[in-house]
Amino acid sequence: MSDLEAFRAETRAWLEVNCPVSMRGEGPSAAEAEGDVVWGGRKAVYKNPEAKLWLDRMAAKGWTAPTWPKDYGGGGLSRDEAKVLTQEMARIQARPPLYSFGLWMLGPVLLEYASEEQKKEHLPRIVRGEIRWCQGYSEPGAGSDLASLRTRCEDKGDHFLVNGQKIWTSYADKADWIFCLVRTDTSKKHEGISFILFDMASPGVEARPIRLISGNSPFCETFFTDVKVPKANLVGRLNGGWEIAKRLLQYERQNISSGGFGGGGGVELEDIAKHYVGTEGGRIADGDLRARIAAHRMEAKAFALTVRRIEEESRAAKGPSPAVSIIKYAAAKLNQERCELMVEAMGHQGLGWEGDGFSEGEIMAMRAMLRSKGNSIEGGTSEVNLNVVAKRVLGLLDHQ
Ligand SMILES: Cc1cc2nc3c(=O)[nH]c(=O)nc-3n(C[C@H](O)[C@H](O)[C@H](O)COP(=O)(O)OP(=O)(O)OC[C@H]3O[C@@H](n4cnc5c(N)ncnc54)[C@H](O)[C@@H]3O)c2cc1C
Repeated sequence: MSDLEAFRAETRAWLEVNCPVSMRGEGPSAAEAEGDVVWGGRKAVYKNPEAKLWLDRMAAKGWTAPTWPKDYGGGGLSRDEAKVLTQEMARIQARPPLYSFGLWMLGPVLLEYASEEQKKEHLPRIVRGEIRWCQGYSEPGAGSDLASLRTRCEDKGDHFLVNGQKIWTSYADKADWIFCLVRTDTSKKHEGISFILFDMASPGVEARPIRLISGNSPFCETFFTDVKVPKANLVGRLNGGWEIAKRLLQYERQNISSGGFGGGGGVELEDIAKHYVGTEGGRIADGDLRARIAAHRMEAKAFALTVRRIEEESRAAKGPSPAVSIIKYAAAKLNQERCELMVEAMGHQGLGWEGDGFSEGEIMAMRAMLRSKGNSIEGGTSEVNLNVVAKRVLGLLDHQ
């Protein structure tokens, strides 16, 4: 038996014993069911105690961050072993033990750019889900043109002083710490930005939730008034934050891409259409809807294959490439299409917001469709991602 086969056998046996039955099976998507998935952190509330048990068991093995080095709490697995772990988890439909901006975005850039002390301080707490992170990038007037950001960070000798405002900060009201882009030099644009970390419980930090069209409030306006930040919390060089910011965005887009957006859960569009529209000879009765669902399925299949290709490329290049922008763009379009088709197939029943006249699934479909509108904005808009593809993947000239 090869080493990898032995690892598979061990992993399978371990998961069988350690993954609670209630943590198996199709779960709700993170975007739609904030309370039902585990984000960890100091304020975490576990509706199901077995969710915490599952997190603790996986974190103890470092398997919430399988490929991170063991020195920082990770699993120390090779890429091939991590793939086996993913396959074995999928085999028993084990749910992810932890959803975390720390795992998906911050951790990978800390591994690349942070000091040894910073890695030792932050990475193990991310792995264990002890600290929940939020992303302080966008500001009013600095979204797509992110480098126009104005949140000031002044050197006060023994500490930094931060003043300004962020917007659309996902889960800022629930997060413990923020990774934040700040202006440390007003005389330069990109070269005047730094990447800092601070505790959201620091005096002078205020997060005000914004209500979304879907009824949820997943993001906030975040205000900083004379927030004192230890100088040790600067990651990389002073005024060298833009490079780290861009790298983190690649990880963000890669993560969004590989998971897709998953709107409306894992229900098959075909089954929904058959249920609501009826069937003719076993097929969806409405020919036009049937053709569009078939086209969507073909696109989804092509998308899955492209994701695999780009993942292989990332593996070879030891990190994500600008090609993740292709996937971010396509993932948003596909999820929006899927949600629209789902609501359309439900007819009048797809128009429910609340009330006894609608099932839970129908209300969820409607809300998922509304939530999906943000997919082409979050993590960089579709237009901005197409610009990245034009310049950095296709090598077209920038005439601006
Ligand atoms: C669900 C969700 C969660 C988010 N979470 C976070 C978060 O946690 N942290 C955070 O910092 N931000 C977050 N954001 C903000 C997001 O990153 C920004 O909304 C996004 O970058 C766009 O910026 P903007 O809203 O300022 O729009 P603008 O930049 O003002 O864009 C307006 C329109 O102009 C277009 N446009 C702008 N520039 C160009 C160009 N050069 N070429 C072509 N078209 C262009 C855009 O595509 C868009 O259609 C989130 C957004 C959403 C929807």
